[in-house]
Amino acid sequence: MRVAMFGTGYVGLVTGACLAEVGHDVVCVDIDQAKIDGLNRGVIPIYEPGLAPLVQANHAAGRLAFTTEAAGAIAHAQVIFIAVGTPPDEDGSADLQYVLAVARTIGRHLDHPAVVVNKSTVPVGTADKVRAVIAEEFSARGARVAFDVVSNPEFLKEGDAVADCLRPDRIIIGADDARAVTVLRRLYAPFNRKRDRVVEMDVRSAELTKYAANAMLATKISFMNEIANIAERVGADIEQVRQGIGSDPRIGWHFIYPGAGYGGSCFPKDVQALARTAAQHGHTPRLLEAVEAVNEAQKGHLFTLIQRHYDRGEDEGVRGKTFAVWGLAFKPNTDDMRAAPSRRLLAQLWEAGARVRAYDPEAMGEARRVFGERKDLMLCESAFEALEGADALIVVTEWKQFRSPDFVRLREALGDAVVFDGRNLYDPQEIEAAGLAYYGIGRGRSL
Ligand code: NAD
Repeated sequence: MRVAMFGTGYVGLVTGACLAEVGHDVVCVDIDQAKIDGLNRGVIPIYEPGLAPLVQANHAAGRLAFTTEAAGAIAHAQVIFIAVGTPPDEDGSADLQYVLAVARTIGRHLDHPAVVVNKSTVPVGTADKVRAVIAEEFSARGARVAFDVVSNPEFLKEGDAVADCLRPDRIIIGADDARAVTVLRRLYAPFNRKRDRVVEMDVRSAELTKYAANAMLATKISFMNEIANIAERVGADIEQVRQGIGSDPRIGWHFIYPGAGYGGSCFPKDVQALARTAAQHGHTPRLLEAVEAVNEAQKGHLFTLIQRHYDRGEDEGVRGKTFAVWGLAFKPNTDDMRAAPSRRLLAQLWEAGARVRAYDPEAMGEARRVFGERKDLMLCESAFEALEGADALIVVTEWKQFRSPDFVRLREALGDAVVFDGRNLYDPQEIEAAGLAYYGIGRGRSL
């Protein structure tokens, strides 16, 4: 089928490439000329495992094109995806300006029947707004073309996006019209062979499903962080507690890891936007507010542990200390640093007069862009280079390569021989046996 994909970010580029991979003819549109020029030269703007060869192969095969020319892409397409950003507005609600700008463009150019698919995460009622904007443009130019607006939220995870897209758990199709469902079922048929993964529902339920999924995951994380903070105070070890509860299938093993708080471009903004939607409709979202408040506090927790450790000493606390930081991306296998806990931590360290030597396997380019040149930041080429001249190590992102360092080498490298483990990667006994002081999250020893 012929597809136009508006937005070549994490969602649009991955989805466009996966649709091309199964034989569809996809034109990706973006307003970012540099990104499109790069993609046409084979430069992939984000790090996502498996994405580069997928994009390059399908581009070379002629099934995946990149352009800033919206009109041509719309003329080409039977199915038009909107996969642009929906960042938080000042009051926490989703900013729909990019989504509605695409709707306006579609309204200006569409002159054949098509299905418009909203893949961006958008508040309930947005499909109606998209439909209204397109209709407004149609009436301005006297166009009479049949079109449907469908909600098809995306559930891919950064870091696993290609695999998630090629083998989705479910494909939500929110439509008020059976024809549109048939078109999308045809489009997704190659991903839907083993069993039927399509869940059909009405548009509003589909829009809410995406927020419900992210809010549930964020709730699990904040819940575990809450229990971790209790464990810390009562002298229990959250890792043992985690083992104890995960084995209950009603609870499960996923998303019960305590840590430095959730970040990224989705959970923080989606929890906020859902709370905002609830408030706008006269419901006080007490649980969502608590999930967010716990997370905000958790993002400052590592620094509290660091400060407590250094305030016990005889010198000037954290001031003048140098910290090696392992991990800047908001989670492993991505270069994304949007709302990453590392950003809050580094700001707090700098505010307190400390210096940072940081390393992340994929986010160094992004870190350069986010932080710019600073005297108190050294971006290092490797995890061990970050340790050179450092007093302490802070682990912020649980990349696999950080999981089993040589603890003796760590002790020899670190001036103060102390490790702050924001992801509970290490066994406290093993690390302490190597002569290092250890602080984890919720490990009953950090008061
Ligand atoms: P992104 O910021 O990575 O990419 C958005 C892209 O849209 C940018 O390249 C931008 O230049 C482009 N754009 C903006 N206006 C445009 C226009 N008028 N025409 C064409 N292109 C335009 O965003 P993302 O992370 O891919 O997220 C997109 C949407 O999907 C958001 O609503 C997000 O909440 C949702 N989502 C994201 C993820 C994720 O893991 N990133 C997962 C599921 C859903």
